[in-house]
Amino acid sequence: MITETAAVRIRPLTGAPTRLLLPKEQYWEDLADYLPRGGYARTPDAEQIRELVRVANLRGRGGAGFPTAVKLASVAEAAGPRCVVANGEEGEPASIKDRYLLRRRPHLVLDGLLLAARAVNADHAYVYVSDDASAASMRVAIAQRRPSIPVRIVTVPAGYVAGEASAVVRAIDGGPAKPTAKPPHPYQQGVGGMPTLIQNVETLAHLALLVSHGAAAHLEHGTTECTGTFLLTLSRPGGPAILAEVPYGARLGDVVTEHLGPIEVSGVLMGGFAGGIFGPEALDLPLTHEDVRNAGGMLGCGAVILLGPEDCQVSAAADIAAYFDRENAGQCGACIKGTDAMARDLAALASGTAGPDDVARLERLSANLLRRGSCGLLDAACATAASLVRTNRPLVDAHLAAPCRRCADASSPPGETRFRINW
Ligand code: SF4
Repeated sequence: MITETAAVRIRPLTGAPTRLLLPKEQYWEDLADYLPRGGYARTPDAEQIRELVRVANLRGRGGAGFPTAVKLASVAEAAGPRCVVANGEEGEPASIKDRYLLRRRPHLVLDGLLLAARAVNADHAYVYVSDDASAASMRVAIAQRRPSIPVRIVTVPAGYVAGEASAVVRAIDGGPAKPTAKPPHPYQQGVGGMPTLIQNVETLAHLALLVSHGAAAHLEHGTTECTGTFLLTLSRPGGPAILAEVPYGARLGDVVTEHLGPIEVSGVLMGGFAGGIFGPEALDLPLTHEDVRNAGGMLGCGAVILLGPEDCQVSAAADIAAYFDRENAGQCGACIKGTDAMARDLAALASGTAGPDDVARLERLSANLLRRGSCGLLDAACATAASLVRTNRPLVDAHLAAPCRRCADASSPPGETRFRINW
């Protein structure tokens, strides 16, 4: 039994009892429970699954929101043996959704993985995780279900870049869980050189629900471009995190009020660490990839961190930049030097020792280093710096004029980030 901590509260979606990702607050899935819910019941052929995914416009829940139908087709059309990976290495420190699904709904994930394998005619599969409790839960599910294709569990040390697709391939092949240059992409040449479908765990869970309940049930929620629901991890420094199933298109402020009540928000970190720092105006954003992108950020994997009146956006940015500097995989010169320089400038700003030249350098680096790394970490570090300077210049200028008390009071454990959800 996995012990629950008070650090996380589970909030199911109301009004959709048959196809929920989060059935109820205290829930641990067993095969005997999953079968009556329609699990493993339908066995559509490969083309039927791909068509269902296309009609439902299922998009990936790992961060990029890429159309799943396109991914499936790319691997299905490739020649030779293929394999499928359930990617549960949730590197984002402010997200817990994949861990939740792996620990609590292992059959839903396994069902989705087997359907994905069928959709691309793969003859073996992997579950890729860093969380021991997730691995243990999936091991039990595999033993209970005894799938017709081999499903191996691969565990790696946790890390921000460990879940990046090329890092997944490299680690399963026995190397370090660090990204490689692309092309080739995993769908062209992945695990063992085979075309490989790497799919986020939540996407696989939606695929299983899609097959058991149909496209119409999926399309009941969301918008035209972002269909269905997604798992939102909503957190505040020091407060319990909320894991809520939310329809795409819901206004962030409404979701916050529903689950946390009328709280004061001084800033919003969209997409967890990856999507930039916003002021409280972000509460008006509808939660879709397009709406957040049009506002200059990223919804990413659906993690949102709320800053309160005691928090300062500058020390939050400094904390995150320091994290990226520690987590960079040490492979790309632009990333190694760039994350270090941005972290130092933001730390100086937070401590009241920065000058105008440091801010100018932050602006220059965060613009010039975009897409200069092999993976998204450098872009995420740039987004943190660029969004702070762009959206809250008066706050930045105030930090040049005088030290900030809220920044002085903010601290993280050594080598850690205070925005990580420990669960
Ligand atoms: S961009 Fe940074 S984190 Fe990504 S591979 Fe290069 S050095 Fe590593």
